[in-house]
Amino acid sequence: MIPAALALLLAAPPAPSPSARPVLVTVDDLPIGGGGHDSPEERARITQGLLAALAKHHIRAVGLVTWSNLRSDAELGLLDSWLQAGHELGNHSDRHLSYTAKTADEYIADIEAARSRLAAFLSSRGHPLRFFRFPFLREGDTGEKLDAMRRYLERTGQRNLPVTVDHQDWSYEERWVKARGADEEQALQRIGLDYQAAFRLAVRHHESKGDRLFGRAVPQILLLHANEVGAAQWDAAFSWLEETGHRFAGADEVLADAAFAEPHRFVATHGPPLWDRIAHERREQAVRKELAATLERQAQAWSRGDLDAFVSVYAEDAAFVSPTGLTRGRQAVLDRYRKRYPGKAAMGTLTLEVLETRLAWGIDGSILGDAVPSGIHGASIVARWTLAYPDKPAATGLTLLVLEPRGDGWVIVQDASM
Ligand SMILES: [Zn+2]
Repeated sequence: MIPAALALLLAAPPAPSPSARPVLVTVDDLPIGGGGHDSPEERARITQGLLAALAKHHIRAVGLVTWSNLRSDAELGLLDSWLQAGHELGNHSDRHLSYTAKTADEYIADIEAARSRLAAFLSSRGHPLRFFRFPFLREGDTGEKLDAMRRYLERTGQRNLPVTVDHQDWSYEERWVKARGADEEQALQRIGLDYQAAFRLAVRHHESKGDRLFGRAVPQILLLHANEVGAAQWDAAFSWLEETGHRFAGADEVLADAAFAEPHRFVATHGPPLWDRIAHERREQAVRKELAATLERQAQAWSRGDLDAFVSVYAEDAAFVSPTGLTRGRQAVLDRYRKRYPGKAAMGTLTLEVLETRLAWGIDGSILGDAVPSGIHGASIVARWTLAYPDKPAATGLTLLVLEPRGDGWVIVQDASM
């Protein structure tokens, strides 16, 4: 006779609604994340708890291995139990370094050390190594570092496995382990309630963000960690997902969605979930377009001799710097131009060639604990200006413009022209 618990694991999954949203479950820091679990028995017990929750909900997860989290070769057995339960394993580095704190060479050496060992382990068991996940989701704080890792991953056949829903589950682990050690049943219940509340809020928040970006219900990739609080809380979290229109899907199905093919180059010190990166990328592109249109309108106004329209792009309190001094305020800027360029013939035809645009933004902490990109609150542009005349040689020079979004458009707050 089959025991009831085993029968539950072997039962066919309940048929989910065809309109249910696919969710890929990914688990970081295998075999066990965080400290405080020293005995092999405890580490095996946590692993079995995690695998039981996944099995109960018929989930095929991707587990990301942090190689230095293996305490000994004997712990390869913990990884084997993930494979035997039907999950896929990917690379999550050796020492879980922050890319922001390392050079590309130092960082890639660490990733490669883990990759070669994990690939050998997997291939001896007939499994490929396909996925990589950045520790802390930090993909590079300079364009060069971002590109270096992209080239390395491409070369070694590892795909960056993104995250769309992060609920900072790791942050409950220390409190949970402490309360469990002290047998504080009420504290455990409170931590569990917090965990579930944060989970639901994070799922709702990131889902609505992704759906707004793509105009449809997009699949999600959930980030969880291999820890003790997870072993206790996953079952309830997975049940809630099933009750709220989700179904668990494999990596290939979820990653085939077009949302995961949208290119982005998110360069920052921190690592937000994917939808925040894409939203930021789209915002940057929109701002660059608006800035280019603003300069183009300005050049056209100048070239038709309309100084009023030309200076309307300046903020009321704009500062204009030239070799002859500092002019403060839009009206004073207009007066200065009127004096120097009396009439259309003196003004000529203006072209502005943008040489460099930088956008000002930073990393904010969200109420959910994510490091998220702020809005774009400023821009600076280096451009070459050229005035062409029908009857005399052209004049040319450089300008540095600082712009801010005010009202419904961008205005120049500082202009240094030479
Ligand atoms: Zn990690």
